[in-house]
Amino acid sequence: MPKYRCPMCRKICSEHLDLARHYLGQTDKKHKEWLKTQGLSYAELIKAQVTEFGNKGYEALAEVLKKEAVVVDEG
Ligand SMILES: [Zn+2]
Repeated sequence: MPKYRCPMCRKICSEHLDLARHYLGQTDKKHKEWLKTQGLSYAELIKAQVTEFGNKGYEALAEVLKKEAVVVDEG
């Protein structure tokens, strides 16, 4: 089963959505700054997550992580 590593730390998740959930739980500058390089805003993702139905914030970030997260194949 492939797993995916957070671009900014060593956190590994088996699903991009879980990784997105981890990511938005981090409030340090490093995690927030990387979002900007992807054209995203931490504040906007959190806002989407709190104010819109469903998991809009997590899903938007998960889409980016599908392209950017390193795949860790643990065999
Ligand atoms: Zn992380």
